[in-house]
Amino acid sequence: MVIGDDIKKMFASFAPETHKAMDRYTSFRVGGPADLLVLPQNIEQVICLVKTAKKIELPITIIGGGTNVLISDKGIRGLVMVLTRLKQGIEQTTPLINTGGDSPDRIYLTALAGESLGHICRFAADSGLAGLAWAAGIPGTIGGAVMMNAGAFGSDMSQIVTQIEVLDLTTLETVVLPRNSLHFSYRKLALENSIVLKVKLGLTRADAETVKDEFYRNLKTKQSTQPVSQASAGCFFKNPPGSKSAGFLIEQAGMKKARCNGAMVSDLHANFIVNHGNACAKDILDLAGQVKKSVYEKFGINLKEEVKTIGN
Ligand SMILES: Cc1cc2nc3c(=O)[nH]c(=O)nc-3n(C[C@H](O)[C@H](O)[C@H](O)COP(=O)(O)OP(=O)(O)OC[C@H]3O[C@@H](n4cnc5c(N)ncnc54)[C@H](O)[C@@H]3O)c2cc1C
Repeated sequence: MVIGDDIKKMFASFAPETHKAMDRYTSFRVGGPADLLVLPQNIEQVICLVKTAKKIELPITIIGGGTNVLISDKGIRGLVMVLTRLKQGIEQTTPLINTGGDSPDRIYLTALAGESLGHICRFAADSGLAGLAWAAGIPGTIGGAVMMNAGAFGSDMSQIVTQIEVLDLTTLETVVLPRNSLHFSYRKLALENSIVLKVKLGLTRADAETVKDEFYRNLKTKQSTQPVSQASAGCFFKNPPGSKSAGFLIEQAGMKKARCNGAMVSDLHANFIVNHGNACAKDILDLAGQVKKSVYEKFGINLKEEVKTIGN
C-alpha cells in the first residue's frame, strides 16, 4: 500500500516512518516493510492512533517486543504500532485494608504494556517478591507476555495476572478486565480485537534471597539449554498433548541442525529455529514445514506453531 502525503500528514505528530523494514523490531531479525510504523509512548497516543487509522480504514497491527513473531518478507500493510516505548515504570501497591480475602503479603505490580517482562521480573527478584522468577530470561513486553500467556518451569502468566486494561478496537473504549473474565490457555489469551494497555500482577512478599536464588537458577538453566544469544523467536512449536515435548519429537525425527539457507534447527534445542544472519521469513517457514512433515511422518503428530506469523 502506498502511503500518500495526505495520510502521512494525519499521523505527522507521531513521527511515523513509511515503508520501514521490520527486521530490527523482531528477535528473528527478519521481516519486510511496514507501510506506516509508529512507536507510541503513552496510552493517549495509542488511542489517538487507533481512532485516526479507523477513520480511514487502515488495518492495525500490534507488535510488542517482537520476540514471538515471524513477520513475512512482504511486510505488513497499514499501520503498525510497536509498543516497546509504551512504558512509565513499575508501580508497586499493597492491598487496601479490610477488602477481605487478600493476604497481607500480597503485593501488586502495575505496568504499561510496553514494559519489558525482564525488567519486571528482575524488579520482583530484587524486591523479594515471589511469583515471577519462572520468567527469568524470557524476552519481550509484559503486554506480549499476557497475550501469549508466556510460561516456563511449570508456571505462566495466567497464575499472576490480576487484571488488564485494554482498548477495545470495535467500541474504541478502554475497559478494565479482571482476572475472572480472562480466558487463558496454553500460550494463549482468548482476547480478540483489543490492545492490552496496562497489566496488574499479583505477587507475594517472600524471603529476598530465596526469590533471587530461584531467579538466577532459572536464568542459568535457560542460558544453558536454549540458544538465547542467537536470533530466534523462542520455541517455534507448541508442545503437543502428552509427555513428549516438541523439541524431543523434532530431535527424534532427525531434524536437529536441519537447514534451509540461513535458517537452521538449533543444535542446542531442537524446538528453536535460528536465523544465522541471512535467513528470510520464507526460509524459516520452509524449514518449519519440513520439521512438521518429518515429525508427522515419524510420529503421526501434527505440531502447531507457537510463533505467530504476521503480514502478507
Ligand atoms: C530466546 C527466547 C526465549 C524465549 N523463551 C520463552 C519462554 O521460556 N516461554 C515463553 O512462553 N515464551 C518464550 N519466548 C517467546 C516470547 O519471548 C514470549 O512469547 C513473549 O512473552 C512475547 O512478548 P512480545 O512482547 O515479544 O510479543 P510479540 O512477539 O511482539 O507479540 C506476540 C503476539 O502478541 C500480540 N501483542 C503483543 N503485544 C500486544 C498488546 N499490548 N496488545 C495486544 N496484542 C499484543 C502480537 O500481535 C502477537 O500476536 C522466547 C523467545 C525468545 C526469543
